[in-house]
Amino acid sequence: MLRGVVVKAYSSYYYVQSGEKVTECKLRGRFKKERFSLFVGDEVEYTTTGVDKGVIEEILPRRTLMKRPTVANVDQVVLTFAAVNPDINTLLVDRFLVLAESSQLEIVLCVNKIDLADISNLNSMLEVYRTIGYPVILTSARNGLGVEELRGRLSDRITVFAGPSGAGKSSLLNALQPGLSLVTGEVSKKIGRGRHTTRYAELLPLAGGGFVVDTPGFSLTEFEDIGEQELGHYFPEIAALASECKFSTCIHLKEPQCAVKSAVGEGRIVRSRYESYLEVLTEIRENKKGY
Ligand code: GDP
Ligand code: ZN
Repeated sequence: MLRGVVVKAYSSYYYVQSGEKVTECKLRGRFKKERFSLFVGDEVEYTTTGVDKGVIEEILPRRTLMKRPTVANVDQVVLTFAAVNPDINTLLVDRFLVLAESSQLEIVLCVNKIDLADISNLNSMLEVYRTIGYPVILTSARNGLGVEELRGRLSDRITVFAGPSGAGKSSLLNALQPGLSLVTGEVSKKIGRGRHTTRYAELLPLAGGGFVVDTPGFSLTEFEDIGEQELGHYFPEIAALASECKFSTCIHLKEPQCAVKSAVGEGRIVRSRYESYLEVLTEIRENKKGY
């Protein structure tokens, strides 16, 4: 029996990659009688029935399942922002970080278009994220800076790119893997079919091993799933201090003897991060009022 990863699903066919080889597989009939779910990213065992054709015999246990788009076994997310055009802003970065943290994925921060940026300003702005512990990679899809370093982070895992539209995600993927020819911003507008409307995700194999998901990973509408007590977990520097607050239910807003607010006052937590926390907290509370 061979083992591979489902890289694409199309009507009742599943395309299973093993090494360099892709096999067009059907599902063994018994799966249709049982309840089963099979998604891009799942690992399967299969037998071959002809040249590049096969049958899936087993679906292996799934480690994770990402929604919208649905992809199994995603290991990490590369949150991509433009340094300039549009200008990077910490609130937007923090919002994406919360979504990524709440999805339990490993996180890499990628700041693209550095060919247009003042690097020393950029580095001082990003210092806070390095201090918290996020890997930060500066790239230019245009001139190739940092692309090698990014590629090194992608081998042997399944990665999804996420971030605001226009950050350069498609351009970066094209730079990582010449030949992918993903449609970038300008062109997709012209043909009137944004990549963001793609319904079924595919995994794109990288020459250095590993796969990337071909569609952006998150929309910004998902705070609705996060509770106000939970939000602090997704700011690592707040999570680290929360147990020192007087009240175990502290949401670091108006409560007395709050270790988080003290740390902000003393500069041990960066104020812009706390402000982002408050902003998202307010949004969560206002959403709840609506029901
Ligand atoms: P996406 O929406 O995140 O997939 O962004 P695109 O890849 O479509 O890029 C958006 C725009 O930014 C396009 O016009 C690209 O040509 C441009 N762009 C992407 N990467 C870079 C870069 O590193 N430097 C510069 N100057 N422009 C870039
Ligand atoms: Zn507190």
